[in-house]
Amino acid sequence: MVAAPEAKRPIPAATRLCAVPYTKGLHEIADGVWAYLQPHGGWGWSNAGLVTGDSTALLVDTLFDLRLTGDMLDAMRRVTPAAQQIDTVVNTHANGDHCYGNALLAGSDIIASARCAEEMKELPASAMAGVLRAAPTLGLAGEFLARIFEPFSFDGIETTLPTATFDGRLDLMVADRPVRLLEVGPAHTAGDVVVHLPDDGVVFTGDILFHRGHPIVWAGPVANWVGACERVLGLGASVIVPGHGPLATPSAVADLKGYFELLTTEARLRHDAGMTPLEAAQDIDLGPYAGWSEPERVVANVRALYRDFGDGSPADVVTVMGEMAILADRQSAS
Ligand SMILES: [Zn+2]
Repeated sequence: MVAAPEAKRPIPAATRLCAVPYTKGLHEIADGVWAYLQPHGGWGWSNAGLVTGDSTALLVDTLFDLRLTGDMLDAMRRVTPAAQQIDTVVNTHANGDHCYGNALLAGSDIIASARCAEEMKELPASAMAGVLRAAPTLGLAGEFLARIFEPFSFDGIETTLPTATFDGRLDLMVADRPVRLLEVGPAHTAGDVVVHLPDDGVVFTGDILFHRGHPIVWAGPVANWVGACERVLGLGASVIVPGHGPLATPSAVADLKGYFELLTTEARLRHDAGMTPLEAAQDIDLGPYAGWSEPERVVANVRALYRDFGDGSPADVVTVMGEMAILADRQSAS
């Protein structure tokens, strides 16, 4: 006898979500759907997801290096036989903490937006390893990079790019479970995608949501990220799996929208007053968002907003990293 879909996949109540602890590893969030969480969620400590059918599975994102990704795959195989057969991997975006582990899934279909696939070629793990080897010559920025990425190992990771790409939207099935890939970028990166399970009330947002941490705008425009938040909210899901941080409800996405709206207003005032992005970042009172982790990212976000305001060419990554290092040092000293 075939169970009715409603009986097979109950949408978890908010109370069930509240009971999910923020601990490392797999957490079942709907029948046959898991989030893989990596506290503390800071630089490089990303989340991933597993969506299963009877004898097939889809993986949402790999992790920053091969050891972490291997540990995650082992944990998945222990919890469900379907994880023996990961037929499909979806990369939500091109940052290495969501795709460098692809090398362990070279036999799977790997799907990303076309813009994401292009961006993945720009900073493969081998180039990241090179940047870290050069860190001692990069001043403050180098010290900061060496510190935040010290737990990870990028040497010897083979670049494994998507085998299929799409623009806009792609509808998939994992056995009889619909899975919708929605391109909502450019925002965090050029080709951000969220993964929506409409029958389960679940969205994997990738880094469109850093829960309880500051977002970082690598691409923008910021207004487009606000639009991405609205699209996620419009899906009506009850469980949000962020790219970093603990499991969330839609209120966290609404908070992020509020953060960007406040930051846009405050950055505009300081831009018009002639402050530099670093001066503005140090001056802005973030009110209800001031307690989020990685506050040094505010300067990168203010820089992105200045760019949106038409303020010349963007700074290079080393400059932005150097400014974040200054903010991080001040904050740890205060
Ligand atoms: Zn990330």
